[in-house]
Amino acid sequence: MKRSVLYILLFLGNLLGMNIVFKKLNSKKIRVIMYHGVSGKKLPEYYWLILNSDSFRWQMKHLKDNYNCGDASVVLDNEPSQSINRVLITFDDGLKNNYDVVWKILAEFSLPAVCFVIPCLSKENKQNWSTEFFDILVNSKTNKLNLNQFGLEDIALPANKKERAVILGELGTRLKSMNHEVVENILNFIRTNYLDSDFKPLFELMSSSQILELSLSNEFQIASHSSYHKVLSNLSREKQKEDIALSLRNLNDLGIPFLPLFAYPNGMYNNDTIEVLKEFGFKAALIIEDRHFTSADNKFEIPRVEIGSNISRLEFMARLSGYFYFLKKIQATLTFSKKN
Ligand SMILES: [Zn+2]
Repeated sequence: MKRSVLYILLFLGNLLGMNIVFKKLNSKKIRVIMYHGVSGKKLPEYYWLILNSDSFRWQMKHLKDNYNCGDASVVLDNEPSQSINRVLITFDDGLKNNYDVVWKILAEFSLPAVCFVIPCLSKENKQNWSTEFFDILVNSKTNKLNLNQFGLEDIALPANKKERAVILGELGTRLKSMNHEVVENILNFIRTNYLDSDFKPLFELMSSSQILELSLSNEFQIASHSSYHKVLSNLSREKQKEDIALSLRNLNDLGIPFLPLFAYPNGMYNNDTIEVLKEFGFKAALIIEDRHFTSADNKFEIPRVEIGSNISRLEFMARLSGYFYFLKKIQATLTFSKKN
């Protein structure tokens, strides 16, 4: 569906009350939404993981006025069939802006959220590799990336930042399939060779003491997002176990209370991950999938709707009500019948 057609359908649908109808039809489903960060500044669109604070505030008001937002018990203690229009707000990675910007806005609306942190990276004052390499390279003055020593071909980086971001997105997908030690080496190489002197990181993580402060607030509950944001499904079961155990030990050592809830780094996991989480007493885990959580879903594969700065107000409203997914279903049916 062309974006313009989608926009018209969302616009007209909203006028005709479709969001009200679909909200009622989907009242027994739980909406788990996933954010990364919010900034007071307007950022270029390729930083779509970070919303502008005005958009975020508008979304929080929409949730407060129309939905039943709760803390982690929404997914830990409830079944979708028992709840009415429940929403759980989540943040991944524990970015510093969660402390500086998000917290105040959540407090303004008395809305709770779960923040999935990466304790070892926060403690070591490092960043999540999958956003750090992007942030460095999208801003670097270089026009060619030479990663030959890691078995990769030369990558041309266009001056146009939008095009550059697409190429870096593709590189990120490739890095996710690689061994984490190699990824670490690549990241070190990028830091040494391509980091501009005036670079200001946008994906800084909170410090351990800031996480502790958030955990004691009325707005945030803390949960693990692994130790180092490695792609867990690339690791052996033993290594996954070590990684998750280390994240919990770190939270414990810092006196940070945490939930028996997990968010898979990069949304990637396998059966071993689920089994290890169960061994550690976790009760549920969240994936990234653009739909609502229903009673047919496994609690270790709870879908989350990812919200970035690329989602318009109309899309946000329609994703929450479920009208958006109805349109997508119609589109899929039309495409299918066209093909056959
Ligand atoms: Zn993450």
